[in-house]
Amino acid sequence: MVKEMQFRLSLKESKNENLLKQKVAHYLSISKGDITAIKILRKSIDARKPKIVINYKLKVYINENVEEKSNYNFDYKDVTKAKEIHIIGFGPAGMYAALRCIELGYKPIVLERGKNVQDRRRDLKAINQDHFVDADSNYCFGEGGAGTYSDGKLYTRSLKRGDVRKIFENLVYHGATEQILIDAHPHIGTNKLPKVVRNIRETILKFGGEIHFESRVVDFIVKNKTLKSIVLKNGTEMTVNAVILATGHSARDIYELLHKKEITLKAKSFAMGIRIEHPQQIIDGIQYHCKGERDELLPAASYSLVQQINGRGVYSFCMCPGGFIVPAATTNGEVVVNGMSPSKRNNLFANSGIVGEINAEEDLKKYEKYGVLKGLMFQKELERLAFTSGGRTQTAPAQRLTDFVEGSLSNSLNPTSYQPGIKSAPLHSLLPKLIGSRLRKGFKAFGEKMNGFYTEQANVIGVESRTSSPVNIPRKENLEHIQIQGLFPCGEGGGYAGGIISAAMDGERCAEAVVKSYK
Ligand SMILES: Cc1cc2nc3c(=O)[nH]c(=O)nc-3n(C[C@H](O)[C@H](O)[C@H](O)COP(=O)(O)OP(=O)(O)OC[C@H]3O[C@@H](n4cnc5c(N)ncnc54)[C@H](O)[C@@H]3O)c2cc1C
Repeated sequence: MVKEMQFRLSLKESKNENLLKQKVAHYLSISKGDITAIKILRKSIDARKPKIVINYKLKVYINENVEEKSNYNFDYKDVTKAKEIHIIGFGPAGMYAALRCIELGYKPIVLERGKNVQDRRRDLKAINQDHFVDADSNYCFGEGGAGTYSDGKLYTRSLKRGDVRKIFENLVYHGATEQILIDAHPHIGTNKLPKVVRNIRETILKFGGEIHFESRVVDFIVKNKTLKSIVLKNGTEMTVNAVILATGHSARDIYELLHKKEITLKAKSFAMGIRIEHPQQIIDGIQYHCKGERDELLPAASYSLVQQINGRGVYSFCMCPGGFIVPAATTNGEVVVNGMSPSKRNNLFANSGIVGEINAEEDLKKYEKYGVLKGLMFQKELERLAFTSGGRTQTAPAQRLTDFVEGSLSNSLNPTSYQPGIKSAPLHSLLPKLIGSRLRKGFKAFGEKMNGFYTEQANVIGVESRTSSPVNIPRKENLEHIQIQGLFPCGEGGGYAGGIISAAMDGERCAEAVVKSYK
């Protein structure tokens, strides 16, 4: 017999590996020897009360063998001579579009402006150490997209948009830890992601797909409202049948190109703000009700905060426990911050974006002259402001949290994980009121929700501007662009995803849509 059940152990009990079996046997009134195996399907920590509890969802095998086979088999076909589908961008959306093409018997031809994961590392070092940003190879651009050097948090709210489990199983197939199939808040970590990305590349190449790095697409040739060919930066023109456009939300040149070519775009609401950084120990202390070090069995604590301020949401975004703040600009002359963490989440700091909603209809009146690109122009302006106030390098403007809220310049700043360094700046007056005043009120409210969060030991660092796309590339029900035949906007850049998993699922859907359009 196989029985699925929920079970709870105290943190102390969970330290003893044998105890789970013993307790389950006792609960089911059977002998321990009757239990062939226990498979943990889900594990989560309930730290709401000082006595921390571990919740398990279990599959208990009673006098029954464990079935080893996963329900997911990845049936990749040799597509060397198959019909071609062009994919622009090799982030999560592009990678999963390519893998799905191969499953469906089509040959993906991927064009990626950045470098492979290994070579990309050198350019990240240059951003951190020399303050130089390569416009084709940075934290957003290159093999694996913006997801490669990230936290690799894998949860998503887009459960209805595709088969989430399939993406998780596929990540495991490509080398991610099986733990992601169990944890309630799974993550891979920036040190482990490049290997998974490289394995995905190898699968695509092995089955006959093509991936061209350092191949930025700079033009689309459209005739009679049909996409005929794409042009690369080196002048190569490629004839295409269908193109999955998975260039992410930082490919501003793509939005500008589409706009110039009068291909319909829409302005979209988005969110912007700053990144806050606390010593991890403070967050652990609040969330786990402890003083000093957290219990060794507990992961670095995280939080999720939201507050309505003047009719707009202010919320935490992409929280990275035990992580680093990274410079995520895509060109020189701008400063953008984001966060990532290693698989062990063992750095000394906890960081998170704290952002406010920007309503494209109501909040950007000053930018109306830019039409559908108004949000993008607003983002750019703030990133330039962060650049100049940080000292015209990748050094970021920063302030102690309490000074930001109270409106005074910080005489000194707290230590930070942000490698290019931080410089004291009056972010409270530099940020537009639309963002700054809402965030300041939001922080006060957060301090009331999480006692100890509002502290002078935290820094706020600017600016967190790339949370989601300010532009939508509209598509029809069949996922083709509303006006251009053969163009399939995909992933976060199109406005159809908000993270690694939702982008991957949209990639799969777009591949299926293209294949349908071929039939
Ligand atoms: C530092 C950081 C941390 C993050 N942490 C997380 C996290 O923990 N969890 C999570 O779910 N999400 C996280 N995100 C967001 C996540 O990475 C994105 O949501 C996701 O990568 C979007 O996938 P995508 O494929 O749509 O676009 P992208 O990942 O942006 O990929 C687009 C790709 O297209 C390429 N490209 C752009 N223009 C062109 C062109 N003209 N020609 C050819 N190629 C082009 C780019 O080089 C890039 O590789 C993080 C992002 C960053 C920057």
